[in-house]
Amino acid sequence: MSEQLSQDHLIRLGKEFGTPLYVYHAEKIKEQYAKLTSAFKNSNTLFFYACKALTNINILKYVCSLGANVDCSSINEARLALHAGFPPERILYTSNGIGFDEIEEAVSLGIIINVDSLSNLEKFGQKYGHTYPVGIRLRPNIMAGGNLKISTGHDKSKFGIPVDQADKVLALVERYDLNIADLHIHTGSEIKDVDVFVKGIEILFDLIPKFSDLKFIDLGGGFKVPYKDGDSETDIQLLAQKVNEAFANHPNPGGRPLQVWFEPGKFLVSECGYFITKVNVIKETDAATFVSVDSGFNHLIRPMFYDAYHRIENISNPDGAPKRYSVVGNICETDTFAWDRTINEVREGDYLVFYNAGAYGFEMSSNFNSRYKPAEVLVKDGQAHLIRRRDVFQDLLRNQIDL
Ligand SMILES: *Cc1c(COP(=O)(O)O)cnc(C)c1O
Repeated sequence: MSEQLSQDHLIRLGKEFGTPLYVYHAEKIKEQYAKLTSAFKNSNTLFFYACKALTNINILKYVCSLGANVDCSSINEARLALHAGFPPERILYTSNGIGFDEIEEAVSLGIIINVDSLSNLEKFGQKYGHTYPVGIRLRPNIMAGGNLKISTGHDKSKFGIPVDQADKVLALVERYDLNIADLHIHTGSEIKDVDVFVKGIEILFDLIPKFSDLKFIDLGGGFKVPYKDGDSETDIQLLAQKVNEAFANHPNPGGRPLQVWFEPGKFLVSECGYFITKVNVIKETDAATFVSVDSGFNHLIRPMFYDAYHRIENISNPDGAPKRYSVVGNICETDTFAWDRTINEVREGDYLVFYNAGAYGFEMSSNFNSRYKPAEVLVKDGQAHLIRRRDVFQDLLRNQIDL
C-alpha cells in the first residue's frame, strides 16, 4: 500500500490552513527512503538527500531521523542541515562555481566537500594540502535526464570538471598531495534508464586506481518519479543489481573496497507533496475554458520553467462530469499550469490539488507580483503541523530600506 493523503483530508487541510498551501506527508518520504535502503541492503551504500528539492527544517529533521545523510548545494543549505541536527560528517556540500570563501567555511564546519573546478581545487591544495579530505565532481560527458535544462553531465554542461581534464586533476593531486576521498558524478534529473548510472561507474572505474586515498564513489541523484498516469519510477531494485554487478566485474578497484553514495532529491520528496489551490474565476472563451486559481508560477514554477506535468484534481467535485480546462494562475504574466486538461467539472471556490509538488515546488517559489509565499504543512502520524506561516504584508517590506 502506497502512502497517500485522501481528497477529504486535503480539503480539510485547505480549509483549516487556507490556500495556496503546500502539504507534505512524512510517511511517504519514509516509504521512498525504504525503497532505496531495502534495494541496497546488501551493499555498502549511503544516501544523501539532495535537499535543494525541499529545505523546510522539519523535512530535514525528518529525513535525518530516517538515518539518511544530506547533500547541499549552498553553504546556507549546509547551515540549515546543521540546524536541523545533521552532524557535520553526514553533510555533503557538492559545490557549483562557488567562491573559495564558501569552501573555507565548509572546512571550518567540518562537512564533506565536493569541488567542481580546477581553480578551486588548486586553492584547496594551496591552503589544506593533505590535511582535509576532498571529493571531486567530474563531468562524465554523458547525456541523460528529462530535458536539457535538467541535464548536467553532458559535454556542454557547466557542471563538474570534464573527465577529459583528469590529467590536470592528477597533476594538482600530485603537486599539493591532495587527499581525494571521493569521485562524484551527477548526470541530471529524471533519469529512468539505470544504465546511465552504470555508464558513470564505467567511466569512474578507469580513474579510480589513480587516486590512492579514494574511499567513496558518488553517483549523484536524478531518480525518476511518476508524474503522469502510466509513468514509471526508476527501478531501484534493478539499479542495485546493476551497480552490484558493475562492482563485481571490477573487484576492489585500486585494491580497496569503495562505498557507493547516491544523492536522491526528487525521489524522496516529490510524491510526498500536494499543492492545494482554490479557484478564483472561471472564464469561458473561444480558445479555452480558463480556470484561474489563487496561485501562479510564483508558487509552482515547474510547468512554466520545465514544461513539467503535474496531475491536477478537483477535490471539491470528484464525481463531477469531466471537462476540458486550461488551468492558469492569477499573476500578471502567462502562468499556465496545464493546457487543455480533463478535470471533473470545476466551479468557482473549488479546491484543486496539484500532485507531486514536494520537490522544487515551494523551494523555487518567489514573491513575484508582491504576493505572499504559501504556507507549508507537514502531516505526520496523522497529525497536521503548520511548518511555515504564510507570508504577511510585513514580509514584503522586511529588507527594504525606506529612504
Ligand atoms: C539537484 C541535485 C541532485 C538531486 O537531483 P534530483 O533530480 O532531485 O534527484 C543530486 N545531486 C546534485 C549534485 C544535485 O545538484
